[in-house]
Amino acid sequence: MVARASRMTPPMEYVRLYDEAAGLDGVIAIHSTARGPAAGGCRFWTYPDESAAMADAVRLAEGMSYKNAMAELPFGGGKAVLRRPAGAFDRAALFEAFGQAVERLEGRYVTAEDVGTSVADMELVARHTSHVAGRTALAGRAGGDPSPWTALGVFEAMRAAAAFQSGSTLSSMTVAVLGVGNVGAHLCDLLAEAGAQLVVADIDPARCARMAEVHGARVVAIDEIAGVAADIFAPCALGGALDVATVGALRAKLVCGAANNQLAGEEIAGLLLERGVTYVPDYVANAGGIINVAAEYLQESADEVRQRVVRIGPRVAAVLEEAARDGLAPSIVADRTAERLMQERVAEPA
Ligand code: NAD
Repeated sequence: MVARASRMTPPMEYVRLYDEAAGLDGVIAIHSTARGPAAGGCRFWTYPDESAAMADAVRLAEGMSYKNAMAELPFGGGKAVLRRPAGAFDRAALFEAFGQAVERLEGRYVTAEDVGTSVADMELVARHTSHVAGRTALAGRAGGDPSPWTALGVFEAMRAAAAFQSGSTLSSMTVAVLGVGNVGAHLCDLLAEAGAQLVVADIDPARCARMAEVHGARVVAIDEIAGVAADIFAPCALGGALDVATVGALRAKLVCGAANNQLAGEEIAGLLLERGVTYVPDYVANAGGIINVAAEYLQESADEVRQRVVRIGPRVAAVLEEAARDGLAPSIVADRTAERLMQERVAEPA
C-alpha cells in the first residue's frame, strides 16, 4: 500500500498588503484560478514576522485549492493573512483598507471569514468590494453560520464510509467525538437522530455535559477518547489530532471528522493504513462550510447548498473505492482527484 506523496504546487501569486495609516499589513496568496476566482477566508492573527505570515498564507491557499476543487465548486484557492497590529488599532479602518485591496484584484480573489475575523469584519470589507462572502444571511438564501452545513457534510461522509467499510448503518455504531463545539455539537445531533451511540470529550466540560444531557452521550477525558471502544473516531477540535500516540491507541476502524489538518505528520497516513484504519481525508469531509460560503457568493438558495453538501457522501465512497482498488491511502487518492479537478476550467473569473 502506498501512503505518502508530495502535493503538486503550481505557481503561487502573492499580493502584498500594506497601508500604514490603516494598520493593514499582510498578504493575499492566490494558488489557483483555473476553476474560477481564488476563494478562501481572511485570517487575522499575530505573526512574529512577514515570512511567517507569508508561509501560513501559502499553506492555507494551497489547501483551499484542494478543498474547493474536491467540492466541485467553481472556485480556485486563495487566502488572505493579515497581521494583527501589536498595539491599539482601528478595526474599521483596517478591514476597509483590506476591502479596497480585494477590490483592486477585480474578482480574482473572493474573501470570507477565517480564524480571527467575523461577520462584522466582512460587512466592513463589503463597503468596498462585492467579492466577499460570510456576510449576514438573507432569508431563504445561502449564508450565515456554516457549522451546521459542515456537520451535515461530515455526517454524510461518515454514512458513506461506514457503508463502504462494513455495509452497516450508523444506527448500530458508536461514534467517539473529540471536540463538541459548533460543528461537533451539530454532528452529535445528527448522529443521535440516526440512532448512533455517542462518546464525547472536550476541554470545555459544559459542552460535554450538554451532550450528555441532550443525547445521553458518555463523557470521557480528552486523552482517553481515542482508546474507547467505538466504531468511528471523529476529530472535531483542533488540527493534528492524529499523531503516533493517538493512532496507536485507536480502537475505531474508521476516522472521519471536521477538524482541518487532522494528520499530525506525513507518516500518519501510513500508520493508519498499517493498522487497518480507514481515514476519510479531512478536506473531503469538511467542505460543507465552504460550500455554504460559495453558495452565498453565487447567490444560491439554502436548498442548493443542501444538494451540494449531500454529494460529499458519494464523493467519499468514490475515494475509498479507488484507494482500495489501487492500494493507496485515501489521502493520496483525494489529492490526485483534486489536482485533476483543479485544472478544469468551470467558470470565468468574475
Ligand atoms: P469551535 O471552536 O466551535 O469548536 C471546537 C471545540 O473543540 C470547542 O468545544 C473547544 O472547547 C474544543 N477544543 C479545543 N481544543 C481542544 C483540545 N485540545 N481537546 C479537546 N477539545 C478541544 O470550532 P468549530 O467551528 O466547531 O470547528 C471545529 C473544527 O472543524 C476546527 O478544526 C475547524 O477548523 C474545522 N472546520 C470548521 C468548519 C466550520 O464550518 N465551522 C468548517 C471546516 C472545518
